[in-house]
Amino acid sequence: MNGSRIYEHQTWNAIADAIGRGAAVAVPIGAIEQHGYHLPLDTDAYFARELCLAGSEGFDVLVGPHLALGYRSRPLSGGGPAFPGTLSLSGATFTAVVRDVLEGLIGMGFRKLLVYSWHMENQNFAYEAAYLAAEGRDDLKVVVMETPFDGLSEDAMAMLYGDEFPGWPAEHASLMETSVMLHLRPQLVDLSAAIDDRAERRPSYDLIPPPASITTRSGALWKPTRGTAEKGELAVGEIAEHLRRVLEEEFPELSLE
Ligand SMILES: [Zn+2]
Repeated sequence: MNGSRIYEHQTWNAIADAIGRGAAVAVPIGAIEQHGYHLPLDTDAYFARELCLAGSEGFDVLVGPHLALGYRSRPLSGGGPAFPGTLSLSGATFTAVVRDVLEGLIGMGFRKLLVYSWHMENQNFAYEAAYLAAEGRDDLKVVVMETPFDGLSEDAMAMLYGDEFPGWPAEHASLMETSVMLHLRPQLVDLSAAIDDRAERRPSYDLIPPPASITTRSGALWKPTRGTAEKGELAVGEIAEHLRRVLEEEFPELSLE
């Protein structure tokens, strides 16, 4: 044991030990997607792993393999494919990759799995992959968390947004993600470049091909300038606590305390 809980940092015999004692594996899934003028492309990928690590502290859970690429970015919730830098997988490829990873983990003997996805568009595809990987088996449990950012208390929501919450799809590269990055990795935030933005129109339906009017020019979909490291610390604490409660509920035997 080298002390790391990151799956990729283990040796093969450490993995054999983890399987033997019934440890869980949490697979963090993100996206490589534009996040405005001020946040890096790996925002979702980085948050998935960092928050998964933070929330699973104190549990016998390995975190990884880290899946950085996600399902197609959509204009109404991530800007869409028109921004240079965004790299996405098709639904079929994404589902196949996640399924292969989960089946690989099950095949080597893991029976407790967590799918932890930060990127909204991965929803349902992550569930589908987990469903197919576990289908027909009653000797395992897969917990699927597809929107971990919504695990905030009412108090925290009021503190972060007041009465101006725009809804999670519009929160892309905006207050919450800017705040969390300012708290966790401030050296990669260029707050001086952040601008509050708004799409010309936000229809209640989607359009293909996506017209430029349904997303913003900057790629931030709401108000990143309201982000602060303090808000990020509050959000990270609550989102990690949410995962901790889920693990206590679903895998209480893995608590190391
Ligand atoms: Zn994001």
